[in-house]
Amino acid sequence: MLTDAPPAGADEPPASARQDELKRFRSAGRGFWSHIPDREWNDWRWQLKHRITTLEQLERLLPTLTPEERAGTVLANHKLALAITPYFFNLIDPADEHCPIRRQVIPRLEETLTAPWEMTDPCGEDSHSPVPGLVHRYPDRVLFLVTDRCAAYCRYCTRSRLVSNASGYDFHPQFDRQLEYIARHSEVRDVLLSGGDPLLLSDEKLENLLSRLRAIPHVEFVRLGTRIPVFLPQRITPALCAMLRQFHPLFISIHSNHPRELTTEVREALGRLADAGIPLGNQSVLLRHVNDDPVVMKAHVQKLLLCRVRPYYLYQCDLIAGSAHLRTSVRRGLEIMEALRGHTTGYAVPLYVIDAPGGGGKVPVSPEYVLSRNKDRVVIRNYEGRIFEYPEALDGTPLFKAAGPAEPLELI
Ligand SMILES: *Cc1c(COP(=O)(O)O)cnc(C)c1O
Ligand code: SF4
Repeated sequence: MLTDAPPAGADEPPASARQDELKRFRSAGRGFWSHIPDREWNDWRWQLKHRITTLEQLERLLPTLTPEERAGTVLANHKLALAITPYFFNLIDPADEHCPIRRQVIPRLEETLTAPWEMTDPCGEDSHSPVPGLVHRYPDRVLFLVTDRCAAYCRYCTRSRLVSNASGYDFHPQFDRQLEYIARHSEVRDVLLSGGDPLLLSDEKLENLLSRLRAIPHVEFVRLGTRIPVFLPQRITPALCAMLRQFHPLFISIHSNHPRELTTEVREALGRLADAGIPLGNQSVLLRHVNDDPVVMKAHVQKLLLCRVRPYYLYQCDLIAGSAHLRTSVRRGLEIMEALRGHTTGYAVPLYVIDAPGGGGKVPVSPEYVLSRNKDRVVIRNYEGRIFEYPEALDGTPLFKAAGPAEPLELI
């Protein structure tokens, strides 16, 4: 039964490379801002006000700016604005033109190249939008866009058509209409606040919105999708956490792509959210020369667990216009998943999904572990490539009655 499987541990990177990634719970440091008092540096308003948004600032702060990056920055304000918080900027390695942090936030000339299969709305959100700012694609849950602003802008953003308003989409959410739709649709039991970044709303605005959602009896579950803990960990204040904890069950999905994003500041911010009882998940996007490497990805997911975050989804990069230089093959994604499952903690393994182009929703893609299946047996392989058989059970008359209309479950 045994195939020529490699000995356990043969796929491990050299201990030094792994240690190097895992040890990096370093502070982002102050870099160019060493003269700024702690009180200001640690204030998220200061960070937002001092974001890097112009070519002049970039040229001053990053002498190694390449011609491609310079050209991309000039063109960026017609597509997706440039904005980087000073905190996040300090994670860029100026000596490395291919720095994985840099590739995510500094525009490049390639963003202007559009392949025929690329789109401005790759997930077909606008066509599934019953009222502006609400996407109702799945039966029991909605995506609720609350703002078009983020603390910094990711060059591969699937919502770049509206985010930052660089291309004039003019998104103005009307909470009244969005809430009214949810109130009228009793099938909506799960509301996902996103944007833009919902944690850019003030505590008061967000509290008001969450209260109004919680006042709708059929809304059971609320979650927030946010990259603020990574771009602007200073925003995760004790006051914010105290406000959020009134709205349980409330989950948060963060967005982190590379182990170097997980600094001591981020770990502490995530710890505050976890201490407020908020279960944390992570969504990563598979990005070329950022995290399309099994060693990097394994270090990242393991480090997320150290930050009390459960890896949730790994997204194949959407076909957003101008993202070819950041996309990786599905084959590579599958190789990475293969290198995770079984080789590390199951909690660390996300689900790899493709958001089907045009609006089919998230479709899981997985390495094949079922080699064959018929009415008598299932042939499976494990993470080491060893092959096993499982006899198929006979499905006779079910012992349980076929499910009728769902009845509320009572705890006894
Ligand atoms: C991702 C997404 C959701 C949430 O999907 P889950 O698989 O439940 O996390 C809901 N609505 C839309 C439009 C989405 O893109
Ligand atoms: S944080 Fe999210 S919404 Fe904002 S630019 Fe990045 S991917 Fe887009």
